[in-house]
Amino acid sequence: MKKLKIASIPGDGIGKEVVPAAIDVLETISDLHGGLSFDFTEFPYSCDYYLEHGEMMPEDGLKRLSDFDSIFLGAVGDANLVPDHISLWGLLIKIRREFEQTINVRPAKQLPGIQSPLVNPNDFDLLVVRENSEGEYSSIGGRIYRDEDEIAIQNNVFSRKATERVMRFAFDLATKRQKRVTSATKSNGIVYSMPFWDEVFKDVSNDYPDVETDQQHIDALTAFFVTNPSRFDVLVASNLFGDILSDVGAGIMGSIGVAPAGNINVNGKYPSMFEPVHGSAPDIIGKGIANPIGQIWTAKMLLDHHGEEEIGQVLLDVIEETTSDRIVTADLGGKHTTKEVTDEIIKRLKAKA
Ligand code: ATP
Ligand code: MG
Repeated sequence: MKKLKIASIPGDGIGKEVVPAAIDVLETISDLHGGLSFDFTEFPYSCDYYLEHGEMMPEDGLKRLSDFDSIFLGAVGDANLVPDHISLWGLLIKIRREFEQTINVRPAKQLPGIQSPLVNPNDFDLLVVRENSEGEYSSIGGRIYRDEDEIAIQNNVFSRKATERVMRFAFDLATKRQKRVTSATKSNGIVYSMPFWDEVFKDVSNDYPDVETDQQHIDALTAFFVTNPSRFDVLVASNLFGDILSDVGAGIMGSIGVAPAGNINVNGKYPSMFEPVHGSAPDIIGKGIANPIGQIWTAKMLLDHHGEEEIGQVLLDVIEETTSDRIVTADLGGKHTTKEVTDEIIKRLKAKA
């Protein structure tokens, strides 16, 4: 019997509504599959916690979380309660950094029954793998003053270690999918870091002879996301390029309410953290209409991460059947509530068991 110890952090706003929904789904899966169970511990770290205690989590918060197999998070931040820089840096970014979650993974897939904003969505199913610890978002730089001018300099930092790590991760994922990796580059304009990126991509690809590779400049690549996303399987990108691509990916899915994500600790020293792309959605708190699919699909990523890909696939199939039959919330043009969508997914999981 495999038992996964999961720290759940519902966080703020609709996080408190969709995390319990997704946990119900995971509990159902554990009831249906004898070999897998979950041990959930909930942590109240959030803006409410801050208002009461003056910090987003206690001093030993990270230490407490470090014992878990994974962290399952809803949303952090509600600018009506606590300024974003405090809530994000005090919890989300702290966990990502201290737990060395150096890779961010975001799938984007055309769900049946959901209107993509694209004219010709063509059943896309892709995965953006983003380096999440260095690159363009480095803290090295500053300002200089020269010839009565003021100049800001921001250094890009690409280490071979982190670059190789994200690429191997992307290739490993591709071997379980369509066996295609596309690298986002810009070596025709960024003349030091991107040729290095390309070189490492080539080196790593040599270890994966069965995986087809492709490189595209980020400008053209972003256009292809809109004109022909179905040509992609796994994409690997630097911090900035991955940030952009993953948001375009969420955009073409039709609602931010369905988009899942994972922050991965590759060395296994610390837990990885799974959280949907959407935020706390202050405008719909308490109405019971938050779309739970982003959080439930995020639960599928958690299952995959722990080697339960078969069950993960069943869960995604059920999500797709549910959207196909238009049991969906208002953000997808439906009339169903968070609870109705969740109950439908649970009902269909049981019917498949
Ligand atoms: P944050 O800074 O936390 O990312 P935000 O306001 O930028 O917050 P979201 O909280 O994701 O972004 O909300 C953006 C819009 O999408 C809001 O109108 C919100 O109601 C809607 N939205 C986000 N998530 C969902 C969801 N799960 N179901 C329905 N609507 C959602
Ligand atoms: Mg936002």
